[in-house]
Amino acid sequence: MGKPTGFQEFNRELPGKIAPEARVKNYNEFVGLYTADKLNEQSARCMNCGIPFCHSGCPLGNIIPEFNDAVYRKNWVEAYEILSSTNNFPEFTGRICPAPCESACVLGINKPPVAIEEIEKHIIEIAYEKNLVKPMAPIIKTGKTVAVVGSGPAGLAAAAQLSKAGHAVTVYERDDKPGGLLRYGIPDFKLEKWVIDRRIQVMEADGVEFICNTEVGKDIAADELTRRYDAVVLAGGSTIPRNLPIPGRELKGTYFAMDFLKQQNKRVSSTEIKAEDILATDKDVVVIGGGDTGSDCVGTSNRQGARSILQFEFMPQPPKERTAAMPWPSYPMVLKTTSSHEEGVQRHFGINTKQFLGDDQGNLRALKVTDVTWETDFLGRPTKFAEVEGSEREIPCQRVFLAMGFVNPQYDGMLEALGVELDERKNVKAKEGVYRTNVSKVFACGDMRRGQSLVVWAISEGREAARKVDEFLTGHTLLESKEAVN
Ligand code: FAD
Repeated sequence: MGKPTGFQEFNRELPGKIAPEARVKNYNEFVGLYTADKLNEQSARCMNCGIPFCHSGCPLGNIIPEFNDAVYRKNWVEAYEILSSTNNFPEFTGRICPAPCESACVLGINKPPVAIEEIEKHIIEIAYEKNLVKPMAPIIKTGKTVAVVGSGPAGLAAAAQLSKAGHAVTVYERDDKPGGLLRYGIPDFKLEKWVIDRRIQVMEADGVEFICNTEVGKDIAADELTRRYDAVVLAGGSTIPRNLPIPGRELKGTYFAMDFLKQQNKRVSSTEIKAEDILATDKDVVVIGGGDTGSDCVGTSNRQGARSILQFEFMPQPPKERTAAMPWPSYPMVLKTTSSHEEGVQRHFGINTKQFLGDDQGNLRALKVTDVTWETDFLGRPTKFAEVEGSEREIPCQRVFLAMGFVNPQYDGMLEALGVELDERKNVKAKEGVYRTNVSKVFACGDMRRGQSLVVWAISEGREAARKVDEFLTGHTLLESKEAVN
């Protein structure tokens, strides 16, 4: 424990951010770094409590009090070793994780929690600066080969771990560059893409091969993979968006969030866009859906120069702070506000969208909506809704972005050709902790198995699936297990 009295002496402080009106002028990241003294103080706030709930709060089992202690002592080699023993990509989670570890921080019971996410980002950035991030594949190889389909955080984590175990790993990606949603979903203002390129270089130096512009099940037959490789890991994500099939859905001006976000990410990286431009510039925008995808649409619309932005949610507004009925640190039960909300948007809760209304040319001109009220249970959770009589009205808008989540992975193509069984939610069926599908030597992880989730879960699943593949190939595994931490 760095400083026993640190949690009493220092308040939680986050690094400075560029002001909203300045940062919306470009797509760059806008969160700064701590000074050396501030980083030291923030790490000193960790109490090294007897039972560190943060370990199990983190889906990766990050060993947080120990790396906080190493940061306090400015022992960067030790801090990096501890952090990288459980997390392959702290540069991603340190930027975009909702930090469930912080919700689990014991200090959070009566003070703001330790700034774990920021400390994590600083450890990895210092490690890169000091050239500590090095290839780690062993010289002696196992002679086994593995194909990983999909290069999002789950596929990348599985590939990194399998390479570390000495297997020859090839990653297939249908997009032109690796990264999955990290590259083409999450905007640059949350995660600049050089951060992904830097990691891919480390993995390539480690011997991982990336084959992009190749859709398995279309450009290469799925069974060619099962013939050619000793094991196959499916990490294709959950890519089918939830639709809003109400009258007027065909009008020009309504788009799935990912079509909008992907284009802008490509524009920032100067990649060719092979479809009509979807832009919010000078438009009245409505974003339907309140999660990360919705808030990324808000941030992107602001940067493109939208005239106005509204964000609608069907569910009621959650409480802004912990309530008497739910006194524990309780994300996501409280209202989630992201940096995009600071940049300008009006949020409306309890709104039901009934119809898209168009003009004579088939362009969207408005939404027909009503208010809904909700009954809640004893914990304040919404259970039953009813439309408010007389609340029907038209909301003028020329762009609507549908950000209501993703229902399941794409079945046509690869999954169908392999004959992979699905679970009741239409995700790939492979038990948590086992990760094997019904098809011989085929494993699955990340959103494709779990359903739409978080980057930290995708990394966790990729790592755990890699252990199971390693056991399958060699009869045992020395890859780290998060169970060993907790
Ligand atoms: P993905 O990242 O979806 O990657 C799957 C990859 O597989 C894709 O590159 C796809 O092209 C490829 N693929 C699919 N099928 C094939 C095939 N047949 N052949 C070859 N390649 C294929 N989470 C957070 O923690 N924090 C955030 O701030 C956050 N923001 C988000 C913002 C948006 C807009 C979205 C959509 C999601 C966000 N998420 C966030 C969720 C997070 O991005 C996902 O949970 C995570 O990326 C899932 O990782 P994955 O590797 O399972 O899949």
